[in-house]
Amino acid sequence: MTTIDDLPIRDELRGKTPYGAPQLDVAVRLNTNENSYPLPDAVVDAIAKAVQAELRDLNRYPDRDAVALRADLADYLGHGLTAANTWAANGSNEIQQQLLQAFAGPGRTALGFGPSYSMHPLLAQGTGSRWIGALRDPDFGLTPAAALAQIQEHDPDLIFLCSPNNPTGTALDPEVVTAVLDAARGMVIVDEAYAEFARPGTPSALTVLPGHPRLVVTRTMSKAFGFAGGRLGYLAADPAVVDAVQLVRLPYHLSALTQAAARAALSQRDALLATVEAIKEQRDRIVATLRDRGRAVADSDANFVLFEVGGDQKIVWQRLLDRGVLIRDVGLAGWLRVTAGTPAETDAFLEALK
Ligand code: PMP
Repeated sequence: MTTIDDLPIRDELRGKTPYGAPQLDVAVRLNTNENSYPLPDAVVDAIAKAVQAELRDLNRYPDRDAVALRADLADYLGHGLTAANTWAANGSNEIQQQLLQAFAGPGRTALGFGPSYSMHPLLAQGTGSRWIGALRDPDFGLTPAAALAQIQEHDPDLIFLCSPNNPTGTALDPEVVTAVLDAARGMVIVDEAYAEFARPGTPSALTVLPGHPRLVVTRTMSKAFGFAGGRLGYLAADPAVVDAVQLVRLPYHLSALTQAAARAALSQRDALLATVEAIKEQRDRIVATLRDRGRAVADSDANFVLFEVGGDQKIVWQRLLDRGVLIRDVGLAGWLRVTAGTPAETDAFLEALK
């Protein structure tokens, strides 16, 4: 049998494993930070109608620049943003890949503060960028002093910040973002995939955008909007950043069906985002219950919770799976991450963990 090693694959990809959160058919799936609630009927109908209206014209390529969708995204974000400040792609992973292609790549470096989202280093490597694994503070926070020391040491071309951070749930104060922007020479990407779940008093890095053309905020409809299957991620930045990613995007990368479905979903955003408060309640319940049980739990501004298992996390992960509850081993010794889902899913998780 031929294996990857028999192929003339790029040297830096040898021995690597692909992104691979298990997709298992179990009763309680709390491992990929999806929104557990199916789309309401009214939203399903609106999306079906919007997609139907595109079908006859599928002989034509879609709007390459997705201008109408970008205007809708800007309207959703507020902060005085317009279509010129936004860009959309098939998930925020593709957005981040495009940013790396435009601003990092061969001969350049990308830096992130771990533990953080596992795709950042993979996307960096896939685009030929050299990855620098800097570190968060031991309490999973990131102080400006610690961030600046590591930036000064490595002088990266591109920096990933993640707020709220996956897998810890920790939100960053916008002061850290401005300190990093002031200290860094390169682009600063703030991955805000979970922004809608932040607790009150945690401002988005969108507030820092004016006057900072090297700042990019990436967002997604995969989490709060419950649109993970629709694949729609986007960014907000100076219009020059949008000009830059247009140099590397594939022509017609975002299908007419995706654009129409995402616009319909955005038009129904009140119905879709109605689940956010319910999910935050379950998140806070998981944090409080596990702390009551004497476990160390990271503060969370996201739709998931990182908690200490008090032993080998691989064994606890398997035992939970044996009880029909799939959560996530993020490779952090002694810790596991669970997504906040419906009240029934939280019941099942808390009971199984006992
Ligand atoms: N950023 C972070 C921090 C994430 O956790 C995820 C999804 N797990 C993504 C980006 C990518 O999401 P998507 O490509 O679905 O927008």
